Amino acid sequence: MPFPSLGLAPALSQAATGAGYLAPTEIQGAAIPAILRGQDVLGLAQTGSGKTAAFSLPLLQRWAEAPRHRSRRTVHTLVLVPTRELAAQVGETLRILGQHLHERPKIAVVFGGVSVNPQMMALRGGADIVVATPGRLIDLLDHNALKIGNVSALVLDEADRLLDLGFAEELQRILALLPAQRQNLFFSATFVPAVEALAAQLLNDPLRIEVEATEATVPDIAQRAIEVDTSRRTQLLRHLVQDQKWTRVLAFVATKHAAEIVADKLRKAGIEAEPFHGMLSQGKRTQVVADFKASRVQVVVATDLAARGIDIAQLPVVVNFDLPRSVTDYVHRIGRTGRAGESGLAVSFVPASSEAHFRLIEKRQGLSVPRERIVGFEPVEVAMAASTTPLTAPGAQSPNGGIKGKRPSKKDKLREAAARAAAGKP
Ligand code: AMP
Repeated sequence: MPFPSLGLAPALSQAATGAGYLAPTEIQGAAIPAILRGQDVLGLAQTGSGKTAAFSLPLLQRWAEAPRHRSRRTVHTLVLVPTRELAAQVGETLRILGQHLHERPKIAVVFGGVSVNPQMMALRGGADIVVATPGRLIDLLDHNALKIGNVSALVLDEADRLLDLGFAEELQRILALLPAQRQNLFFSATFVPAVEALAAQLLNDPLRIEVEATEATVPDIAQRAIEVDTSRRTQLLRHLVQDQKWTRVLAFVATKHAAEIVADKLRKAGIEAEPFHGMLSQGKRTQVVADFKASRVQVVVATDLAARGIDIAQLPVVVNFDLPRSVTDYVHRIGRTGRAGESGLAVSFVPASSEAHFRLIEKRQGLSVPRERIVGFEPVEVAMAASTTPLTAPGAQSPNGGIKGKRPSKKDKLREAAARAAAGKP
């Protein structure tokens, strides 16, 4: 089904085609007509499904068709996203898709971590569409830099992540300032109870669209799990990059410090690698993404928060150098590869201490990933009391990939001592 048959104006269909979208994805086919009608939408879709264009195209059209006072611009559409990278990307998508409209909307993208002044300047005279992270939006509202009392459409993008990142309170403050009459579009990759409650609070008789992760829109992501000792992961990563001739790799680590260290070690081994985390300036982060896209950087070593919004059309390999804390993070991480019809590979390093955690990730996804060993990197570590340490929350993983949150109890220690005695070890 081509774009125009969804009810989109020629200027928007033309922009979609110009962006390389030949036919609507599943979520676009379902969401665009409903959004054009003014209906609320609940989209359960992974990143990579085309959800950004699914809300951008019809909202641009609704903006273009809305009567407005040109002299006093009011925010027509407010898009809330969890991270600055995603904000920048959504803003860019809106700009590209709206470029052929007779009158172009004024789009403001605002996020934290950079000076507030240029953003306040950009908002002078108002904006038609604002894409914002919740914290910075509140700062700007507190400074009277914009008013959201007349918003016609609200989008919560990656709602699960907004809640994961602790934005619940900010969201409630923002919602309280919005008019009761508005269209609400809610997108989330997962639908845990907190997300469900927020959706129920916001949405009014929504069209529910669920895009299965197994559909062609989130294609072919092959998952591999390699058993390796914690201390040998950097060498293994280096070996795989060279041996498998991986040209572009996004490797996830647990901390900013680890991102720096691993990138540094790879660089010393002759691989163009850069860290990517929240302590870097926005300018540096933008540069790293640009270098990665232009193939000047081969490996980006990133933390979850920073990598959330990276959208690289061709990202063949994602490596879980440290396993993610939660299953949600795992889904988001591997969703960075295999986007828009490409096939992708997600490789997880599984030291013995992370085996139980990885099993939980497999269980929650309802799949089983065979364990592999790479010649020359066979692990020698064994999990400390792996059979007796109960698994706590999925968020309880230590930076080195182990499980924290439960120290061995006295009983555990006695059991270990007994096991050692039985094995004749001191
Ligand atoms: P999203 O799920 O919004 O993060 O989009 C994932 C990727 O799919 C982006 O790189 C888009 O440019 C691309 N995309 C969106 N819609 C289409 C489409 N209809 N056909 C091909 N690619 C698309």
